[in-house]
Amino acid sequence: MKGKIKRRVAALAVAATVLLAFTACNDSAAKEEYFEVFGTTLCITTANAEEAERAALEMQNTELAVSAAIADSDIGRINAAAAGESVVVGDITMQLLRKAYRAYELTDGAYDPTVAPLVELWGFAAGDFVQGVAPEKLPSAEEVAAERGKVGFDRAFRLDPESNSVEKLIEGAMLDLGGIAKGDAVARSLGGFTGECLVNLGGNIGGVGKDHRIGIGAPRPSEKAYIGIVTLHSGECISTSGDYERYYEKDGKRYHHIIDPFTGRPADSGLISVTVICRDGALGDALSTAIMVAGEEKGREWLDALSAEYPEIAAVFVHEDLTTATWGRDMQAA
Ligand code: ADP
Ligand code: MG
Repeated sequence: MKGKIKRRVAALAVAATVLLAFTACNDSAAKEEYFEVFGTTLCITTANAEEAERAALEMQNTELAVSAAIADSDIGRINAAAAGESVVVGDITMQLLRKAYRAYELTDGAYDPTVAPLVELWGFAAGDFVQGVAPEKLPSAEEVAAERGKVGFDRAFRLDPESNSVEKLIEGAMLDLGGIAKGDAVARSLGGFTGECLVNLGGNIGGVGKDHRIGIGAPRPSEKAYIGIVTLHSGECISTSGDYERYYEKDGKRYHHIIDPFTGRPADSGLISVTVICRDGALGDALSTAIMVAGEEKGREWLDALSAEYPEIAAVFVHEDLTTATWGRDMQAA
């Protein structure tokens, strides 16, 4: 394995506000190990420090391949390429791009990693964004339309799994796997643990060996930090997307980092937070993003359709008026 492991001391670790594990491992030898991956904190609770380090190193290697913020990563090179160019990528990147393509198809394009130019236009690209700080000027309708012309996974890129290459078809098209990479990394790491463990990558959580009680963060400041608690079974992953994770306000209106590929603007579906449980962490992560875009009704249709293949699939919706609804699993009071 390449790369040097990046550790974070517990005291510096930012508590995950999106999802929080209420029960750690029964195993009294279990410890929390902190690392830094994908620009966020990775906390692994396990008695086996070696397995935790191995999982962290693998995630850090994945980050080097798929982060849009790293110029010589596979995604960095794809984003810098001109239309007509083909970029050869590693297996990890190709696998993740194929999962992303499947999620794009399953969600009728609501999850679309080619929204990258719009994410950048609205000021949410990694490196540009500072929480709560609005740009001086919001994008004009013309600017939004111009960037929207570069969006659409089926027309902007062609994936060739045989040659492990990605061809750019539209000048200026870009990829951003931010809506799927963390969930995928958590799910892939779970197979590497032999005992009880809990993996928390910036609020994308997976558990092994026992049930874990997971608190779902309140999307608006309130007395209770959590809107409720759900049970996560061994082998399952849970991801939340919300309008409160990365946002700014301008003239009394909130602008956030989940972009509706069809309007080119921050999603406005009536939902302010969506949590999805699924053993396929990539799919769950992409679905939480897609349901934020397309709304609860569409979300319920997708969950219905997927429940034959993923019997454990479940979701929690939080509406603008702060009421909640669940699909497939109950939520207990926090
Ligand atoms: P986070 O990664 O902050 O936990 P999400 O999983 O919801 O939250 O992913 C949001 C990120 O995905 C955004 O910051 C952006 O990089 C990217 N993104 C935004 N809108 C979409 C979309 N409609 N489809 C796919 N990715 C998106
Ligand atoms: Mg997501």
